[in-house]
Amino acid sequence: MPAAPTDLYCLTREELRLLFARWGFSPIHTARLWGYLYLALADSFSAEAMPELPEKVRAKLAAETRLAALPVALATDSADGFTRKFLLTLPDGERIETVLMRFTGRVTACVSSQVGCAMGCVFCATGQMGYTRHLTPGEIVAQAVHVARQLRIVAGGTDHGLKQKPGPATPAITIPRLRNIVLMGMGEPLHNYDAVMQAIEILRDPNGLALGAERITLSTVGVVPGILRLAAEKRACHLAVSLHAATQDERAALVPAAKKWSLDELMAACRTYSETTGRRIFYEWTLIEGQNDSATHARAVGELLRGLPAQVNLIPLNPTAGYGGTPTRSDAAKRFQKILAEEFNLPSTVRQRRGIDIAAGCGQLAIA
Ligand code: SAH
Ligand code: SF4
Repeated sequence: MPAAPTDLYCLTREELRLLFARWGFSPIHTARLWGYLYLALADSFSAEAMPELPEKVRAKLAAETRLAALPVALATDSADGFTRKFLLTLPDGERIETVLMRFTGRVTACVSSQVGCAMGCVFCATGQMGYTRHLTPGEIVAQAVHVARQLRIVAGGTDHGLKQKPGPATPAITIPRLRNIVLMGMGEPLHNYDAVMQAIEILRDPNGLALGAERITLSTVGVVPGILRLAAEKRACHLAVSLHAATQDERAALVPAAKKWSLDELMAACRTYSETTGRRIFYEWTLIEGQNDSATHARAVGELLRGLPAQVNLIPLNPTAGYGGTPTRSDAAKRFQKILAEEFNLPSTVRQRRGIDIAAGCGQLAIA
């Protein structure tokens, strides 16, 4: 049986160089191909798409490699005008969702790391659908490439589906560029550690998409060994930890993974992470009315995070089919923030509710 073709989006530039060296191709061709893949965003090996690569190089690529195309099964625009969700088909027919968000000139792609998720958080649509499989590094990178291509279409003026939020500093015409990646789509990125880290290496390559450490945020449910590994390997990304509760019992009721990795272990790992990397952690807190949004809860999280470099991201609960909770109202969210700020000097933000009408908000991604 012939070997499966190599997915080029799975390879770092160095791995591509080694592959070309094995094939007897010059490093100049590696550099050119890298530019075609991540600057020109080429989607084929044709002479038109890759004019400076000799025919023999393109023929070898066509014979032995592939670009994991992720055809769009469905694209949906939010009425907010800033959010577009893509249902993408993977080479084996599985499907994932990727979200493009464009607020005040900051273009962010929210990418998936798995088909479904094994962690089963009660309020999350991805958790409710269960786990199917990990994504490959190439399937993670290809989502970013897909979004970057979409932006080019917008810039080219053929698609005005996404508008720029008006503001004094916003020029009339902007060339959008993919600026940020959040690993907050479907799946638990630290459950698929190796593939996610390989994808980050490729995304941050300065000669390619150049999404460096400050531009990538990885959100975890609290996979303790993964957090410790991120710290030990000093991985280049921001870290967000989904906390949602400040006591073990309350947290375990929302996040079953807390039974495996306790709150104490999680906080110890977060401390180690911040001490080792010097980085602040974002702590995410899905606000559910009457469940984790009282003044007592705010004080408990304040105490829990005392002395840690932290910012709290409050996310009013988004609706999902399998969970009946109600989002905290904005006055209660403000009271929560005020306590964190005034009593604990702890910065926080309330995540803007965007794309809820197309189920593109946090925790709403799932395949029907
Ligand atoms: N698996 C990772 C990243 C994906 S979810 C994680 O759990 O951190 C991104 C964020 O959305 C997490 O903080 C998650 O807890 C939160 N979330 C999940 N379901 C939600 C919902 N229905 N409403 C609001 N936030 C939700
Ligand atoms: Fe998985 Fe994150 Fe959803 Fe929990 S919140 S089920 S970890 S995707």
